[in-house]
Amino acid sequence: MDLATNIQAVRERIAAACDRAGRDPSTVTLLAVTKTQPPEVVNEAARLGLTLFGENKVQEAKAKIPLCSNRLRWHMIGHLQSNKARDAVHLFEMIQSVDSLALAQELNKRAEQAGKTMPILLEVNIVGEASKFGYAPEALLRDLLEINRLPRLEIHGLMTIPPWSPVPERVRPVFRRLRELKAQCEEVLGAPLPQLSMGMTGDFEVAIEEGATLVRVGTALFGERPKGPAA
Ligand SMILES: *Cc1c(COP(=O)(O)O)cnc(C)c1O
Repeated sequence: MDLATNIQAVRERIAAACDRAGRDPSTVTLLAVTKTQPPEVVNEAARLGLTLFGENKVQEAKAKIPLCSNRLRWHMIGHLQSNKARDAVHLFEMIQSVDSLALAQELNKRAEQAGKTMPILLEVNIVGEASKFGYAPEALLRDLLEINRLPRLEIHGLMTIPPWSPVPERVRPVFRRLRELKAQCEEVLGAPLPQLSMGMTGDFEVAIEEGATLVRVGTALFGERPKGPAA
């Protein structure tokens, strides 16, 4: 694996997708997903200019982040259990995977104890896949105002993980639906939500065409992940 080449290739693909969509590439942020990757790989990616990283497990992040350059920014992108909310508030700059009112309330409490305000995204399970976490769209609209009232949380937008498909074009309606749902949420809140976190290695170009502002890319940067638990 040549990380420098991979980063360059992903950046070029992002720029090409922006071009097709008539978007400024500076409106799309690349988040490098480093789950299962050791700290040395993270630090190498940082040396090559990446600044924003994502982990999907608190335990792994807690072990890894202290061994990485301390100038990096980290987002939590995996399912978060309430009993890990305290650690998550300390480790991450943003929690992208808020999927229930109970979790939001726990994060609010922990952020208050830490004297922080926590930026969050609300994770949506657009097609209702049983194997995935995330709010059903109707449930999100039901809880939205209550989450918005929690003083220590700041809602920055929505996140989704679409069903896996070998054909990225098939995922386009899911991304489009997330963008429409964001507009609905903005109407309910009477305020803009700047972030749409959608698109991974297999489909980030389509996601950008549909309005993604954060793309979460692992495999295209670091190669295939080893199967099984992280080393
Ligand atoms: C692993 C993961 C990614 C990155 O997936 P790739 O296909 O390797 O790019 C993105 N988002 C989430 C939530 C993940 O868990």
